[in-house]
Amino acid sequence: MSLNRDDMLRELELLPVWKLRDAGVAKSGLVANSAPSGASPAQQVMEVSETERNVVESISAVEPLSVDESAVFEENRQEQIQHLDWQALQGCVKSCVACELSGTRTQTVFGVGDPHAEWLFVGEAPGVEEDRQGEPFIGQAGKLLDNMLTAIKLKRGQNTYITNIMKCRPPESRDPHRGEIVQCEPFLERQVALMQPRLILALGRVAAQTLLNTDAAVAELRGKLHSYNGVPVIVTYHPAYLLRNLADKARAWEDLCYARRIMQTLQSQVAN
Ligand code: URA
Repeated sequence: MSLNRDDMLRELELLPVWKLRDAGVAKSGLVANSAPSGASPAQQVMEVSETERNVVESISAVEPLSVDESAVFEENRQEQIQHLDWQALQGCVKSCVACELSGTRTQTVFGVGDPHAEWLFVGEAPGVEEDRQGEPFIGQAGKLLDNMLTAIKLKRGQNTYITNIMKCRPPESRDPHRGEIVQCEPFLERQVALMQPRLILALGRVAAQTLLNTDAAVAELRGKLHSYNGVPVIVTYHPAYLLRNLADKARAWEDLCYARRIMQTLQSQVAN
């Protein structure tokens, strides 16, 4: 006898389908959308353990879905992510198997710093060292980023938050594929919505093109004020690029000075 998808989920006691609690109740993220009849209101909110969540996600990720099912699943996933709180979002990233990078990563890299920071720095994807240690920008490029922060009187962890478009390392540190970016971007979108930083610095082509939904080159995008979901964005070169192209360091310095001026303006607007 062959089981269909719902039968199989029911056999595994994974139906009814899991959905988010409303934002006011949300803590760990996912709950069942219906409880056994006669359950008290408290019982109707059934927390999903880490293991159950992993099972649901891995089933959803590996089982071949029809084109229609995939579209619905994808829409639900993106919608659900946009309701998570910070802690639940961290858990969701940690257990994500939405793309094949989950099979090659050592660990996910969520971000580092103060989630209430005014400054948000967004890079491309973790590299070898970041994948090993679970923190963004700690290799050579990270050292240069720290120097760039110092140049505008900032410090990692103090009024700054650093993350990437991709939360997993692409193998051989290749560029992330479009499909991988599409799966991962909702996490950053939610980070930005929860943080509400005053200013985002997009570091390099992948960050800039993803945030601004454009194919334009960094050279075209820098020196202007853009916006991502209502948050001002400034584009500059990626520190790894600057390590190879010293001549553009002067331009990056101009971008940082521009960012500092914009931040001062944004801060004074709030003060007045
Ligand atoms: N490059 C990035 O874009 N991000 C990192 O975290 C490290 C290197």
